[in-house]
Amino acid sequence: EVRVRFAPSPTGPFHIGGARSALFNYLVAKHTNGKFVLRIEDTDQKRSTRESEENIKASLQWLGINWDEGIDAGGSYGPYRQMERLDLYQKYTDQLIAEGKAYYCFCTPEELEVERQAQMDKGETPVYSGKCRNLPKETVEQYLREGRPHVVRIVTPKNEILAVDDLVRGHVEFDSNIVGDYVIVKSDGIPVYNYCVVLDDALMHITHVIRAEEHLSNTPRQLVLYHALNFPVPQFAHVSLILGKDKKKMSKRHGATSVEQYKNMGYLPEALFNFLGLLGWTPDSDQEIFSKEELIEQFSLDRVAKNPAVFDIEKLNWINFHYMKQLNENQLYAICLPHLQAAGYVAEQPDAEEIAWLKQMIWALREHIQYGAQVVEPAKVFFTEDYMPENEETAAVLQEETAPAVLEMFRQELLSLPEVTPDTVQPLFKKIQKGLKIKGKFVYMPIRVAVTGVMHGPDLNVIVALMGRDKVLERLGRIQ
Ligand code: GLU
Repeated sequence: EVRVRFAPSPTGPFHIGGARSALFNYLVAKHTNGKFVLRIEDTDQKRSTRESEENIKASLQWLGINWDEGIDAGGSYGPYRQMERLDLYQKYTDQLIAEGKAYYCFCTPEELEVERQAQMDKGETPVYSGKCRNLPKETVEQYLREGRPHVVRIVTPKNEILAVDDLVRGHVEFDSNIVGDYVIVKSDGIPVYNYCVVLDDALMHITHVIRAEEHLSNTPRQLVLYHALNFPVPQFAHVSLILGKDKKKMSKRHGATSVEQYKNMGYLPEALFNFLGLLGWTPDSDQEIFSKEELIEQFSLDRVAKNPAVFDIEKLNWINFHYMKQLNENQLYAICLPHLQAAGYVAEQPDAEEIAWLKQMIWALREHIQYGAQVVEPAKVFFTEDYMPENEETAAVLQEETAPAVLEMFRQELLSLPEVTPDTVQPLFKKIQKGLKIKGKFVYMPIRVAVTGVMHGPDLNVIVALMGRDKVLERLGRIQ
């Protein structure tokens, strides 16, 4: 059985890169009918928060990345939060020490610094000298009795090649001499990431470790532990970095980086799921829109690219637009409403009449909204009076010779309509065209610009009906 895991450190907002790793693990699990485990790696106590853990869980749930085992879900290999597993780690530490595979190290930070500096001066990679490796048993016991500060180090064999056949990166080798006897338990008694991760992955029977490329350099350290503990080594797949369009590592500079930000901007979870699935994985066709089921069915690690994935926001917008178009009037309203409220256009609790109007208005704008927050710009014309851009092109439309007559006739016609609806407004344009013997464009454009300030947008009859007679008349009256 394939067992994969996502093991985030809850140290901040849930990043897009983390979501992509989680998604790839999820897809592998679902594709193979395996299990997806969610484990929280919170041993960095200074930076870990429950708030961040909650944010990660909420983001995963929002995306539809559900886990079979782990935090909240339970399972046979819990607990799934590392700080709740300290006793277990301790047991293995004692065992490693008893077997001579790990040892207490009492070197002070000052001593280590001198050693490090000397190695650097010689142009060597600083590696712990192994000074405490062979301390006599009695000395160790005495130091421990005295309560001397200490760490625990793993014995790393010398002159070994530590190799991994990475499912994405291929065969990669590391020299054990540059790994050295590294610290597995810090002086405060808390085991380090490289140690916990191995124990957990092994004890949770993880078969495939799929994670970010930045952890490739940790893999040799982890291999030393797999060997020392006689645990089977899982398969590794290190997924490439995510870059911005300028080919630099994706960061805040490139825009939103956390899942929550996309959620708050009114992106749809299905769209982000689809987009993240294509961030580093390529299907064997040029298909770009994938349902969850299609991604599960087609996904495989052998089509995960070695080179970095580029985060293309326009592609995300395009994909999101595709999913937005499948929403009905009520769903589209729900996605857009918070943004109109945030812009100050709509009250916290709109009344029934306003809700009905808002639904129609948003629906009319749907071709112009790639994601929720984008509703604000095209909707502005209904809510503010500074809709008229000072732009020569639009000004020229109003200076057409026939414009005053068109606007005047439209005003008269509108006044005499018993009721203003898209259907009653539509015939007016033809009527003006005929009456003044001019082309349609000379009718539509000046009216559109006079009422909305721009030369494009939803159907004019719909805008006029949504805006209502009074407002339209007022705006027409403003044009000299
Ligand atoms: N806690 C690590 C991180 O968030 C997980 C690394 C791993 O998957 O092994 O980066």
